[in-house]
Amino acid sequence: MIRELVKSFQPYRVVEGNYRVWLDKNESPYDLPGWVKEEIFEELKEIPFNRYPHIVSMPAREAIAEFYGISHENVAVGNGSDELIGYLVRLFEGDHVITTPPTFGMYSFYAKLNGIPIVEVPLRENFTINGEMIAGKSKNARAIFIASPNNPTGNLQPEEEIITVLETGRPVILDEAYAEFAGKSLWRLIEEYPNLIVLRTFSKAFGLAGIRAGYMLANEEVIEALYRIKSPFSVGIMTMTAMVVTLRHVDLIEKRVRKILEERERVRRRLGDLAYPSDANFLLIKLNAYGELLKRGIVVRKLSGRLEGHIRVTIGRRWENDAFLKAVGEILDGTMGGL
Ligand code: PMP
Repeated sequence: MIRELVKSFQPYRVVEGNYRVWLDKNESPYDLPGWVKEEIFEELKEIPFNRYPHIVSMPAREAIAEFYGISHENVAVGNGSDELIGYLVRLFEGDHVITTPPTFGMYSFYAKLNGIPIVEVPLRENFTINGEMIAGKSKNARAIFIASPNNPTGNLQPEEEIITVLETGRPVILDEAYAEFAGKSLWRLIEEYPNLIVLRTFSKAFGLAGIRAGYMLANEEVIEALYRIKSPFSVGIMTMTAMVVTLRHVDLIEKRVRKILEERERVRRRLGDLAYPSDANFLLIKLNAYGELLKRGIVVRKLSGRLEGHIRVTIGRRWENDAFLKAVGEILDGTMGGL
């Protein structure tokens, strides 16, 4: 009974129905293997459940710091990187936050929730940020959010443009949720720029979306300030243990990332001009087929606004990607003569 109940947590999604293939949330298609879960459970056996977790999440911060070869004073962890975004819109003084649409919606969600004005500096036609224009709007900005690789466009942002923004001295949140797929990160710039906050997550390459585990790397003073406003026990012992144990198996994660990248390029080649290049675990596709795919049991993300008529498709396992490609082929047969 309990087992059935727990199983029923997983397939719950906003879209109802008996769908087979979920390619809508940029998750990893790979769960942790049983033996890694066992290792997590073994560690948890030794930890008292009746006690609150460490107030400033030291076990997880130490493990992440060791992984990067830095001090725990440069690391903060959150209940998903989402939680950290919620604090970062409030942490600094200033009158507005800057976002670069089309981009991840949670930056403006948390800004609105806190009554903070948003200044939008749209991405260029090729989806790169306009560093000069952001700098021009940065006077008294409390935070500037840049995602690289960006969601939902999938591209890395040029380093020179990011540097132009960093040179303003205003707080820059560089969201690198998909960095493991890009093979490139600018986290080391935290040593040079005390105004840089790099946001990372265990939800994508590490496959821990259900655990809720995110972190940020930044200057000691920013981390200390964050812990002064952060809800004290939001990162529980289960999240911390999952982070600590998973970091011991980075080789496994790297192998999975390589598989996903191979699949991404295979799917992209098949789609030809319909798909944009991607540095992440998903593809932006110029195809107005959300409803038709749903009818065929495949859930993708429908985009709107400037990306109206596009979908965002997460790279899944080979059979899932094949199911997606087959469905796209069928849909195009009806309109453009197939894939
Ligand atoms: N940043 C970006 C750019 C994302 O796409 C996501 C997840 N969709 C997140 C942050 C949030 O990740 P999480 O809260 O699971 O760590």
